[in-house]
Amino acid sequence: MPDQPKTEHRSVRISDDDWRDLLAAAKTQSSDRGTVIKEFVAWYLRRPGAKQPVRPDAAAWQRLITTDGSDRYHASESCPAFQSGRSGNEAQGIELRPVVTLTAEEAEVASQTKCAECLGGS
Ligand SMILES: [Zn+2]
Repeated sequence: MPDQPKTEHRSVRISDDDWRDLLAAAKTQSSDRGTVIKEFVAWYLRRPGAKQPVRPDAAAWQRLITTDGSDRYHASESCPAFQSGRSGNEAQGIELRPVVTLTAEEAEVASQTKCAECLGGS
């Protein structure tokens, strides 16, 4: 008889955004979602020897957006400043540039600036 797994599969509802970001964050620690969840549960339940999981720096995994050719980046496409720029371009008949995702580290390397409205930049 093949080895039986020691634990059962469990099912919980998690938003697509959280599931995607959890993978990205776990990868920065060379970990995976299942390991991070189990570490958190063990710490939460005060299991002997369990340590509080270390949160990775958001800059290493957080998905930001910009457009091809823009010098400014945003938290998401729902940023009012981003939407205003897009609709302004549309109104002027300017073709909308494709949206690109990037991390804060990539934005810094590309000398992009934070949006004042959604990320508190200048
Ligand atoms: Zn913004």
